[in-house]
Amino acid sequence: MSYLLIIFAGLLGLVVGSFINVLTLRWNPAEDTQVIKIVRGRSHCLRCGQQLKWFELIPILSFIFLRGRCRYCRKKLIWQYPLVEGLTALIFAGVTWRILDFNFFAHYFFSDPRTNFWVVAVILIWLFYAAVLIALSIIDLRHYLLPDKIVFPAIAISLLANLSFYFLSLTRGSLFPVHGLNFLGPYADVVNIHFNVLTSALAGAFILSIILFLIYAFSRGKAMGFGDVKLAILIGLMLGLGAGLIGLGLSFIIGAFVSLIIVLATKKKLKDAVPFGPFLALGVLAVFFFGQTLTNFYFSLFNV
Ligand SMILES: [Zn+2]
Repeated sequence: MSYLLIIFAGLLGLVVGSFINVLTLRWNPAEDTQVIKIVRGRSHCLRCGQQLKWFELIPILSFIFLRGRCRYCRKKLIWQYPLVEGLTALIFAGVTWRILDFNFFAHYFFSDPRTNFWVVAVILIWLFYAAVLIALSIIDLRHYLLPDKIVFPAIAISLLANLSFYFLSLTRGSLFPVHGLNFLGPYADVVNIHFNVLTSALAGAFILSIILFLIYAFSRGKAMGFGDVKLAILIGLMLGLGAGLIGLGLSFIIGAFVSLIIVLATKKKLKDAVPFGPFLALGVLAVFFFGQTLTNFYFSLFNV
């Protein structure tokens, strides 16, 4: 039964992925247009401007049937289309699988009808977070910026979600975990026990953005931009304090590693290597999927 949910999330990911392609490819930092206006309107070939028919817009399948070329001008379609659609589908399926795996959520979901509503809500909010992180990463890679028009509404939605989860956790019989989602496993309880789902999110947003602000200020904007500081608020709200800090640490490690490879491979200078937003997104996914495994491994080193 949970497989059906995971497959459904994957299919939803294909659709959302193609929506993210439209959003990020039409994004023009010079124009001050609304997100809604960008995604409205029919899709065109980026090269010849020909309006596309519905069967040319099916995620991944269209790319395969068209053999990666526009039917009208025969120019190559960019790889971002199938890549982002596939990646989003994979991440959506993974996120759903992982949440059902958290805190026995799957057990709750299939045994107790009182939990069905909020387990689905937790899955939906995390699919939303995943979509936002993917879209922000692509825009950051293409334009070196993280638009407020995406970050600010996402912060508002995250605040609202955390507030709802907090009141839900106070509601008798809701079975919502009082300390929120535990991304790090039982070892993290020492820290998590001092926070509820709301205070953990707020503390995470506060501490993470302070850390990134200090790096931003001391490097005079060279190590990262102010957009990364605002994104840190969102990430703190998503993960809470403990997992947020681990996620931030992981994004520094991943960032340093990838930057080193790029510098060695392309002889670019470190300062013009890569934007930091995608690494923050990767850090979130890393702690979301592997936080528990990493924490268990780390502590197992001391319990020989
Ligand atoms: Zn064309």
